Formats: sequence, structure tokens, C-alpha cells
Amino acid sequence: MTADFFSATPLAVETARDTLAKLRSVPALADRYADIVALGSLEDLVHVPVMRKDDLQAALKHLKPKAQHGATWTFQSGGSTGAPKVGYAPTGLYMAEVYEQWKPLGPDDLFVNTWGAGGLWGAHPLMNAYADLTGCTGFGLGVIKPAEYDYWLEFFVDRGITSIGGTPSVLRPIIGRAREIGIKLPDLRTLLWLGEPWIPGLDEDLPVVAPQARRWGLFGSTETWVAGTNTPQCADDTWHTLPSQLVHIGADQMIDFTSLKPHGLNPVLRYQTGDAGEWVTCTCGVPGRALRVLGRRDEDALFRGMSLNVDAFLREVASGGGVSQSQLVITEHPARAAILEVLVVPSHDAPDGLADRIRDHILASPFGGPNTAFYRDPEAFEVRIVGTLIHNERTGKVSSLVQRQAT
Ligand SMILES: [Zn+2]
Repeated sequence: MTADFFSATPLAVETARDTLAKLRSVPALADRYADIVALGSLEDLVHVPVMRKDDLQAALKHLKPKAQHGATWTFQSGGSTGAPKVGYAPTGLYMAEVYEQWKPLGPDDLFVNTWGAGGLWGAHPLMNAYADLTGCTGFGLGVIKPAEYDYWLEFFVDRGITSIGGTPSVLRPIIGRAREIGIKLPDLRTLLWLGEPWIPGLDEDLPVVAPQARRWGLFGSTETWVAGTNTPQCADDTWHTLPSQLVHIGADQMIDFTSLKPHGLNPVLRYQTGDAGEWVTCTCGVPGRALRVLGRRDEDALFRGMSLNVDAFLREVASGGGVSQSQLVITEHPARAAILEVLVVPSHDAPDGLADRIRDHILASPFGGPNTAFYRDPEAFEVRIVGTLIHNERTGKVSSLVQRQAT
């Protein structure tokens, strides 16, 4: 592994040292950090073990962080059954630093926030905190149900909305509906997005509905908070990291984050989100290295005893074209073996017979070929064309993999 921990941020070493001391004070983690003598420089972080979600949750439970100023806000980053996994941020949610670097909004903007509010979800208040800094006029809409699309689209036209923010899988059907019923949003200049990868389908609808609109993205998590920003001139998977984020790419291209925020609340020290990445030169012309995110590496699923790499499988599904979005669904049945389904949202130019074509392709590929389950039980594998993927009703988030029990 090459050591590459550099930051020009003032007090960077002191902040990392501080975080290490906090983690060392957590009884459940003391053993992990016992052998780390001291951090003489940031390069010494190479000796610090990476931490994952469960480690951070153990630390937060023990440390109970409190903000120096204002309120301490609690947000969730999902979780399975039982208690949600949480992260903390002070009033303002660290957005002043984001505003320094990323300016899609100004005082003349009329900004609609469609991220779901409540439920301890962070994106809606995060973007409100950003809007506060810009002096724009805000509309805290939250989740819009499909039955309300037409009503709100008329409202957007009437008000001359200039900016809409949301997860791409929430924005896609709204803009798609506008195209379908012939609504134009000529004043719309910016689409703010975060929470999941950009959906290329939006690039098909936007030129028709809102020719001026461009995408502006944020990348991060409830644990790290915003880690990077991009603009319409950047590739949609490439990010300019914030000065307070010490980003490192280690073995297997796994990204880890160290927070250099003095008095930051989450003790993020070489924290792995599960994303892989690489350093690139961004197409936008901003000098220095930019972080290209290659997707998650820890989402291997088990299907009838076979390990499936979800990202690789979905890349294979999309390889023949005609696919806007796709998702794997594994359903466990009480009375029979599991079923693997691929849900596919077709692109506008999708050919007829897309489902059959994808099915044949997968069965002929390394994913289908060696898997005798598909031969023994042809119903074990299905491709279904759908209008929308399965998503979290609250946040609009779409996972690459859905695992569920048949009822
Ligand atoms: Zn760029």
C-alpha cells in the first residue's frame, strides 16, 4: 500500500490525533488502537486500522458527541432491523465549507427541495442549510407522490422555479412526467442531486423539458457528511473533495475518509464507506486530483449458495444497451428456493424484446452459465421491465440489491 495522506488544512495532524484519542477511549475499540503509539504526521495514519460502520456506531454510542455551538442533530444512514445507524452534525451541518467550493444557487434562485423531510433523514435539512447560505428563496416540498406530479409541475411553471434538488431516482419520474404531458420549465437552471449515482435517463428528458438545466452533485454520507462536490463540467462520477476531508485510496481501491474538521462530531478516522475509487484529472479543468467513485465493493449477494457481485451483474445487464436503470431482487420463498429477478427501467430508445434479450445474454454469460440453478429451475431467474425500481418510500433511495422474503 502506498502511503498518501496529505492535507494542507491547518491543524490537520492535531485534529487526527484528537480523533484517535477519542477512539482509544472507547472500551469496545481500545484493542484496535492499542498499538498505535502516536501520530507524528498524517503519513502515520497508514498504521491506523480502517474502521467500518459498526466500529463508528460503537464509538458514537460511547462518546455521545455534543456540538460546541448550537444544537447537536442526529441523522440516520439506514440500518437493517432494529435501531437505525446514526451520525451527528452541529447546526449548519458543515455546509459553510461546501458553499465556499460549490455555488449552484444564488440570491435570485427559487429552489425546490424534494428530499424527504423527517425520519432522521439528513438530505432535506442538509440542503436547507445550504440554501440558508445562498440567500435564495426556498420551497421545502419534501416527497411528491406520483398522483401530485401534475399539480406541482404547474406550480413550478407558475412560480418560475430555477432549481430543484433531490435524489436522481426521485427527479427522474418528475422530469419524465413533465416531458410526457408537455410541460416546459424554461427557468430551471440547476438540478441539485446527492444520495445515489446520477441516472443517465435524466439526460434524455432534461433537454426537452428544461434545456437550460444542468446537474450539480454532492457526494458523502451521514458519517462523513459532504465529502466532495461536482459541477456540470465534471463527469457525474467524479468529485472535488473538500479541504476538511482527508481521502485515501487503499488496498483494492477502497476509499477511506479521515475528518479534519476541528470539533467534528463523528470520530471519522480512516473510515471506509464501502465505495471504491481512483484519482483522476477532472475534465472540468480544475487543477489537482479528483476522486472518481467506482461504486460499492461490499455488495456481494448470496444466491442459492453462489456469491454474486451485484455491480458486475448489473453492468452485464446494461451492456447490450436499452437499459436506463436496473436492480437485482432476491426473494426467499418459504416453500421453495430463492428467485433472482432483474428489474429493468428501459431507456427511451430500448428495442422490443428487451427482457428476453437480457435474459439470454445473462444465461450465456459467466453469471448465468456456471449457475446450474438456472438450468435446473428456469423460473429461478426472471427479467422484468418496470416503470420504477423498488425504492425507499421516505427517501426515494434505490439500492442495487433488494433482498426479501416472500409472504
Ligand atoms: Zn471537475
